Amino acid sequence: MSNAQCLFCRIVAGEIPATKVAENADCLAFRDIGPQAPTHVLVIPKRHVGSLDALSDGALGAALLAMARDVARAEGIAADGYRVVTNTGANGGQSVAHLHFHVLGGRKLTWPPG
Ligand code: AMP
Repeated sequence: MSNAQCLFCRIVAGEIPATKVAENADCLAFRDIGPQAPTHVLVIPKRHVGSLDALSDGALGAALLAMARDVARAEGIAADGYRVVTNTGANGGQSVAHLHFHVLGGRKLTWPPG
């Protein structure tokens, strides 16, 4: 299922270009258009899921996290450490209503977030 109004569904459909770094039957990883770290990749489900709060398929969640880990390894940031985060809803800072995990690394990341 996809949503014609959804930016990330349109990337999955190939209607909007993205720099893909990994893909399988259920998940897609591509570079964030506004990188906040030397490596900043988004990992998304190919089918529309609005946010983590709307995710009911545990196997899909596991597949997304596995792709995030594999992307970190492929990007060469796993040894030094990296961050995987998903912003959820208005207070979480979510700006695109399609579940995505940010994979951030390549520099020392600060904590806590703002
Ligand atoms: P969030 O604010 O957590 O919902 O994250 C949305 C992310 O999508 C932001 O980091 C944006 O920079 C990123 N983004 C928005 N449009 C695009 C696009 N066309 N291609 C790649 N990343 C995008």
